[in-house]
Amino acid sequence: MRAKIKKGDTVEVISGKLEDMGKRGEVIKVFVDKGRISVQGVNLRTKHQRQVQKQGRTINPGRIKFEGSVHISNVMLVCPKCNEPTRVGIERDESGAHRVCKNCKALLD
Ligand SMILES: [Zn+2]
Repeated sequence: MRAKIKKGDTVEVISGKLEDMGKRGEVIKVFVDKGRISVQGVNLRTKHQRQVQKQGRTINPGRIKFEGSVHISNVMLVCPKCNEPTRVGIERDESGAHRVCKNCKALLD
């Protein structure tokens, strides 16, 4: 599958865990080979960190919140032009391939 979602995009969660449904956030990481992404504030997990010494630094113990990944099919890109979750089309011209909002037809990049 072609990556239609990139780091820095805003996406909305459309399926998956109930608590994440309808959330919007910025894509902070893309795992291209797995077809998964991490979205700011979505699928929050807590990691318990023990106090460790790492390269002379002390990492404090405690609970660290971090974003787990979600499958790319569980989100929709939010178009920056019309502010709606939308499917993305690809349009080609002399300068290459561009993503297009199927809702308002705006070129996204
Ligand atoms: Zn649009």
